[in-house]
Amino acid sequence: MKAVTILGATGSIGTSALDVIARHPERYRVHALTAQSNVDGLADLALRFGPDVVVIGDASLEGRLRDALRERGSTARVAGGRDALVDVARAPEVDAVLAAIVGAAGLVPTLAAAEAGKRLMLANKEAIVSAGALLMGAVRRGGAELLPVDSEHNAIHQCLAGVREAERDGARLVLTASGGPFRSRFDLDAVTPDEACAHPNWVMGRKISVDSATLMNKGLEVIEASWLFDMPVERIDVVIHPQSVIHSMVEFPDGSVLAQMGTPDMRTPLAYALAWPERVTSGAQRLDFTRLGELTFEAPDLRRFPCLGFAYMALRHGRAASAVLNAANEVAVQAFLEGRLRFTAIAATIERVLEAYDPAQPSGIDEVLEIDRRAREVATGMLPN
Ligand code: NAD
Ligand code: MG
Repeated sequence: MKAVTILGATGSIGTSALDVIARHPERYRVHALTAQSNVDGLADLALRFGPDVVVIGDASLEGRLRDALRERGSTARVAGGRDALVDVARAPEVDAVLAAIVGAAGLVPTLAAAEAGKRLMLANKEAIVSAGALLMGAVRRGGAELLPVDSEHNAIHQCLAGVREAERDGARLVLTASGGPFRSRFDLDAVTPDEACAHPNWVMGRKISVDSATLMNKGLEVIEASWLFDMPVERIDVVIHPQSVIHSMVEFPDGSVLAQMGTPDMRTPLAYALAWPERVTSGAQRLDFTRLGELTFEAPDLRRFPCLGFAYMALRHGRAASAVLNAANEVAVQAFLEGRLRFTAIAATIERVLEAYDPAQPSGIDEVLEIDRRAREVATGMLPN
């Protein structure tokens, strides 16, 4: 029986993971569930999954959470605030931690799980984009088992399982991208937040949905892949594949290409990350090849979607550019979702922040957090009034 902490339990990834866990009560029990501010959603999940601890990130809501749990008859312990997130990520009784908080806000508890040597099921890509060297160092030092949940990286993990070290030399990664809702739309200036969040293949949180629409999501994933698989930027390609059936591929020097396929359902990578090196059912539909129709591929259009290019630039530049890119993107996307920034101004804002702020390579978590804070300040200063 494995004890699991779910950071970001009320989100799209958190609830999908709980759906898989509910299918295997003999294998998994929930140690802790966390959310930022959704008191009722968190209390409902606590009643259903019976965790030992429930944490609300916004400490001012701790009293309300306690009342909501009492009303529902739950006896879970209640805690609030950032330190409580760290506590449940590294608690000795925990075997596995799902990092499913959105944004760099998830960095500190994710790092804590790595340092404590947990199985770290990583969905929170912003954490590894902001602090890749630090997080990978913590995984090594802590002896953590890092399993990617992001479907592309999970696919590559599966393709590389059983591949010998010597075969990896000269291998290339091919990340697939759906192309988002605006693959064949050209008047991107007038895009609304609801249009940007209406993804053709996946139902996700609003921030990552906007990232998918700008292709920044794929850019963040290129950076994520370089850290996870120790791969130089020149050997990571992106191809648009609108059907989202092939989740990513690995190409070898002899011309062989390994691909991982499946219906687009995050429960598949979540079940893989939970059960590895075993396999469990996830609830995802089987892929029916007889009804699949065409699988198509095309090159990404970097003129209409410059964010993907900025991510490649940041990765090549090194230093702290990826952390700055991520922070600027978080600020710009939030402003877009609040109706304060046009869709096309997301990329323009990020480009200006990258030009204006180029800090040195951070040497520890405090410096990463300071760079993140400062980049947000610079980005906020560039938003229209
Ligand atoms: P979401 O918005 O649906 O959920 C986010 C969760 O994080 C919620 O539980 C929320 O309460 C919590 N949270 C938000 N801000 C917080 C803060 N400041 N402190 C603590 N907790 C906070 O997001 P999501 O779509 O589930 O995505 C979560 C992460 O997984 C993101 O990093 C995203 O890029 C990644 N991811 C998501 C998908 C997907 O299909 N949704 C796929 C791949 C990767
Ligand atoms: Mg992905």
